Amino acid sequence: MNIFINIQIIKYLLVASVFGGLLFYGCAAQTTKMDKPHHTENGFTNVYLVEKPRLLDFLRWRWSRIWKDIPPPESYDFPLSQNDPQFLRSNHERTTLTWIGHATLLLQLAGKNILTDPIFSERASPVQWAGPKRVVEAGLSLNQLPPIDIVVISHDHYDALDESTVKQLLEREGGSKTAFYVPLGLKRWFQKRGIKRVTEMDWWEQQRDGSLEIIAVPVQHWSKRGLFGRNKNLWAGWVIRSEDCGFFFVGDSGYTPHFKEIGRKLGPFDLAAIPIGAYEPRWFMKNHHMNPQEAVMVHQDVGAKKSIAIHWGTFVLTDEPLDEPPKMLRKALEKQEISTDEFRVLKHGETIVE
Ligand code: ZN
Repeated sequence: MNIFINIQIIKYLLVASVFGGLLFYGCAAQTTKMDKPHHTENGFTNVYLVEKPRLLDFLRWRWSRIWKDIPPPESYDFPLSQNDPQFLRSNHERTTLTWIGHATLLLQLAGKNILTDPIFSERASPVQWAGPKRVVEAGLSLNQLPPIDIVVISHDHYDALDESTVKQLLEREGGSKTAFYVPLGLKRWFQKRGIKRVTEMDWWEQQRDGSLEIIAVPVQHWSKRGLFGRNKNLWAGWVIRSEDCGFFFVGDSGYTPHFKEIGRKLGPFDLAAIPIGAYEPRWFMKNHHMNPQEAVMVHQDVGAKKSIAIHWGTFVLTDEPLDEPPKMLRKALEKQEISTDEFRVLKHGETIVE
């Protein structure tokens, strides 16, 4: 191996460690138990997982990635769906769900326009010159969206909480009326950016927003935005209910017994949005990211009448090819004799109307 290749590898490792580290590694948070099992003196913890330092595992993963043939973002060509922004802007009656890409959804429920984990930026990263790059444009642009009433955020990672998107939402017509629902610890982040309508919620807390009920629910994930401070902010899934429709947004999670509990307490759901991507290598990702087989188990556990796949096909975050999750999902559904109409894979920008 010549010196040039060595320098290239060292450069790659440095860049990968900094940007990947922001997304993935960190030291275990102090896990002194408080009155609630997921609260610690310094933040939060998962209840079905023994938290341990992950730096060495993270470096092992990044090292192993160098030798893998991971397709570059340019190699994908996902078709965009023809959607109808005009209809979405004028619709106040029908329940609709549009997959914009990754975990970003536009849900129209009981006359309200709701966004989940909105990211419209080129990269899921603290900077726009490096970090995971979008492989396909957002299925709806920010300008095409109807006025947004509610935004729910699952956690503080850059692919779920995008500063530029939040700022642009605020600057839109009616943006100051948008209500943000966030997990514990994140209120300050929003207030610092001039957002007043922000409600911070713990797992199982409920809030009423007009005719809607919004409930934060436990999932298994973690949080960290800067170089330090793992698990300082909480992570959560969201249940949003109108009088006649229950929607469950998983966000980002490993597979855990939480889902059976959510199903028991708040299910069944008319609609669920369940992550199917970012799962390889399993030895490193399993605790925090479910794979398609586990996504099908979640669909069953929570009693979803219909689910749609999220958290795939938009940013290269992990080792599996970006177009693999739908294939694995199809196999997992076949095994369980569940139709692909019941757990759907939408095109970017595709809308389902209930
Ligand atoms: Zn995450």
